[in-house]
Amino acid sequence: MKIAVVGTGYVGLVTGAGFSDFGHDVTCIDIDAARISKLRSGDVPFYEPGLHDLIRRNTSLGRLHFTTATSEAVPGAQLVFIAVGTPSSDDGSADLSFVLEAARQIGAALTDFTVVITKSTVPVGTADRVKAALAETAKHEFAVASNPEFLKEGDAVNDFLKPARVVVGADDERAIDLLRDLYRGLLRTNDRIQIMDVRSAELTKYAANCMLATRISFMNELARLCEVTGADIEAVRKGIGSDPRIGNKFLFAGAGFGGSCFPKDLRALRHTARTLGVQLEVVDAAERANERQKRVVGEKLLAHFGADLAGKRIGIWGLAFKPETDDIRESPALVLIDQLLAAGATVIGYDPEAMPNIRAALGDTIELARDAYAAATQVDALVLVTEWHELRDPDLARLRGVMRTPVLVDGRNAWPATDAREAGFTYYAIGRGEPRSLAHH
Ligand code: NAD
Repeated sequence: MKIAVVGTGYVGLVTGAGFSDFGHDVTCIDIDAARISKLRSGDVPFYEPGLHDLIRRNTSLGRLHFTTATSEAVPGAQLVFIAVGTPSSDDGSADLSFVLEAARQIGAALTDFTVVITKSTVPVGTADRVKAALAETAKHEFAVASNPEFLKEGDAVNDFLKPARVVVGADDERAIDLLRDLYRGLLRTNDRIQIMDVRSAELTKYAANCMLATRISFMNELARLCEVTGADIEAVRKGIGSDPRIGNKFLFAGAGFGGSCFPKDLRALRHTARTLGVQLEVVDAAERANERQKRVVGEKLLAHFGADLAGKRIGIWGLAFKPETDDIRESPALVLIDQLLAAGATVIGYDPEAMPNIRAALGDTIELARDAYAAATQVDALVLVTEWHELRDPDLARLRGVMRTPVLVDGRNAWPATDAREAGFTYYAIGRGEPRSLAHH
């Protein structure tokens, strides 16, 4: 099949490379000329495990191409995917300007009947607006479908190639048949394609992200309760996660969730609901709890050292919004850095992949270290914000040797608490309060 994918971000590039790996002829389009020339010369513009190899293999086999010209890639393609960004507008709604502009460009380039599929995360009802945008410029017939993407950064290639399910929202039989054919290769073991109406497909994506975000916020709230009761959120997590009705995923308490999806998708769903006169109390609460949670690590440091951190050096391990990505969009580390700088501290950070993005976003307001232990050298406290594998099992003796004062704040409950305390550290975590009397409660 001949396919075009508009937008070469995390989703578009993985989608394009993934379909080409199944033998389809795919052209990926981006308006960012620098990004396209990078891709043409074999570079991947961001860090995503496995993506580089997938792109290299399929480019060298001549079935994956890159261009800035929608007008070149769309003619002859049976399927055109829109995978451009849908960032938050000031009022919290999803900004659809990139999606609608892409649709107009696709419309103008059509030369025959084509199925245009929205893979970007878009509010319920967007398909109608995409249809209208296409109709502004199209001189040929088209059908519009929704195919939300559920991949997660850091494991995107794997998720794309082995999806738990594929959701397709469409009412046009030709679109449904083409999408079934396209996904057949990925869904050989059993047919996990779910065909539904377009609006349900659009809403399914928000429902998934808001459900996952709500689980995290729920655990973060319980962690606060653990801290004052002496319970351990890690024990509670295991206790409930082993219940098959609950499952063990997305139950980790921590420094709050960030990233390019959960925060913006929560805001966008709330906005959609509010506009339509529906109050989503649970989603509201999940978002509020997260805003508070992102400040918790900083508050622990302020409680330990006092409000004035002038003269204090604080090391941060992990700056990306989660491990295995260089994406720093809405990363909890950014909130912590703001808090620490506002209190007068000097901040020194380390991340295996995200430091170039941090440098671009923050300039030289913080120091960046060449490795994890350099970021701990002469610090008054070391904080874990993002639990990359290489940061989960610190050499405590080495840390004792290089740190100025032995204070650890484990924002992901990933470090060995007992070992840290035995090694003489003051060790703070999330929801792992020291047992104390509840008699006064
Ligand atoms: P991104 O910001 O990484 O990339 C978007 C790309 O689209 C950019 O390179 C931009 O230059 C390009 N673009 C914008 N307008 C264009 C146009 N008219 N023509 C061609 N290219 C254009 O975005 P992303 O993180 O890949 O997310 C894309 C969409 O997928 C969003 O709606 C997001 O919510 C959704 N999504 C993201 C993830 C994720 O993990 N990142 C997962 C599932 C769904």
